[in-house]
Amino acid sequence: CGIFAYLNYNVFRERRYILELLFNGLRRLEYRGYDSSGISIDSDPFPCLTDPLSKSPISPSPPLVFRQEGKIEHLVRTVYQEADGMDLNMEERFQVHAGIAHTRWATHGVPSPRNSHPQSSGAGNAFLVVHNGIITNYAVLKETLIRHGFEFESETDTEVIPKLAKFVFDKLMEHKADDAEGDQNVSFSQVVMEVMRQLEGAYALIFKSPHYPNELIACKRGSPLLLGVKELSEDSNNGASFDDSEFLMKNEKPKELFFASDANALIEHTKKVLVIEDNEVVHLKDGSVSILKFDTDKAKSVGGLPRPASVQ
Ligand code: GLU
Repeated sequence: CGIFAYLNYNVFRERRYILELLFNGLRRLEYRGYDSSGISIDSDPFPCLTDPLSKSPISPSPPLVFRQEGKIEHLVRTVYQEADGMDLNMEERFQVHAGIAHTRWATHGVPSPRNSHPQSSGAGNAFLVVHNGIITNYAVLKETLIRHGFEFESETDTEVIPKLAKFVFDKLMEHKADDAEGDQNVSFSQVVMEVMRQLEGAYALIFKSPHYPNELIACKRGSPLLLGVKELSEDSNNGASFDDSEFLMKNEKPKELFFASDANALIEHTKKVLVIEDNEVVHLKDGSVSILKFDTDKAKSVGGLPRPASVQ
């Protein structure tokens, strides 16, 4: 089982290139054993990251999710077949793109496309998660989320994580709306910290969300996770046409960022590899990497959820 993610920043990459890079990441993790696999990619490229008039992020279409049982090559075939049916343009270019990928070794729920990862918060894929490990308190979280109206589609322990993220996000947004004076934004790391506060067991996680286009968050407790950073030279954009070049962010160095459960999947890309420690939350945003430390005391409490045993 393994996880892999790839984010390109300020360098144009084609959809086919991104897909092949994700598939290759999974192939490098194959030897760890798996019974199914899956990926999520963005559906739209956003040459402008923010709406120039309102300055707010352009709301993107829901990320696409592809999952399959069996060999990685089975997933690869499925992706290209489904992409063909959707008329997805493989040459479409992304200036920033955040993709996540997973090989699963089932612990909860049989190997099947539905139980494969990414697991989703529900329609619209507001939050997507890939997970290695086991969430030991998933049953109580699932029960609580069902009481709050969530419908579960898989038998995995993992599915509580994206659903919890959506629950927390909606609650925090409600709080913000009530507090007219305060800052109206809820950050991705705030959501993930609150989710972590609820989880027990072992995990390495990567979160992706259309609420936070072009951002990724990874965190871990017990399961391995690495970050890879590749700084590119300015002329890496030689694939960019004249029209594209005005969209390239000035003074922003092009780079590629990776997460993987194993150095095997990173060495072909970069030697700059950082081992993520337990309780670290790694936030990739606007081409920069922030490493936050999870702290039970500092995590804000969201009403309506059981109090995790670890803080009782
Ligand atoms: N416990 C999760 C599942 O069964 C993740 C398994 C894994 O680490 O691949 O879906």
